[in-house]
Amino acid sequence: MIQPYNLAYYRSILIEKFEVSAIDFAKQISAWQNRLGNSMESEKAFLWQFLEKWAQVLSQKCPDPYLQYKQLQALYRLMWSYLIGEQKKGTAMMEIMNYLELKIADLSVYKTYVTIIGDKQCAAVEALNGMTVSLENALLKQPIPYDNCSRQLGCICCYGIHAERNPTGRLIRK
Ligand SMILES: [Zn+2]
Repeated sequence: MIQPYNLAYYRSILIEKFEVSAIDFAKQISAWQNRLGNSMESEKAFLWQFLEKWAQVLSQKCPDPYLQYKQLQALYRLMWSYLIGEQKKGTAMMEIMNYLELKIADLSVYKTYVTIIGDKQCAAVEALNGMTVSLENALLKQPIPYDNCSRQLGCICCYGIHAERNPTGRLIRK
């Protein structure tokens, strides 16, 4: 699942899935390497700042919030998998992906509620595993205590989104 580091892999995903222009990407990396050298470390630093910059671009442009959140989530997942491949903690990326999951649920015309899904390797969140909160509360308080996560490569705890149903089993509109 986690790719060994390879710039071409990220480059092709950025171009195919995130509307990055191949020409711009090539220009930017060559400008970067002229300035900072073409060592592996420099290349990785280029990639990381490019991913961060592109997250900014995506968060500013898309007219449809659902598609925007989905795209941002996919980009943060890519950033998360990069960090894990580098043996770094992915918690900050996970936190954003999970927040976007709540924002996506918030767009639904149906009522939803949220459960906390804690990972066993994370004592702080395992204590909250299965806890139910309203979507409003989850958005407001973001109850997963990411900073206390004890999992070695960072938190993978997340929210489960569930549809509320009336006694006859029908979904409930907001
Ligand atoms: Zn955790």
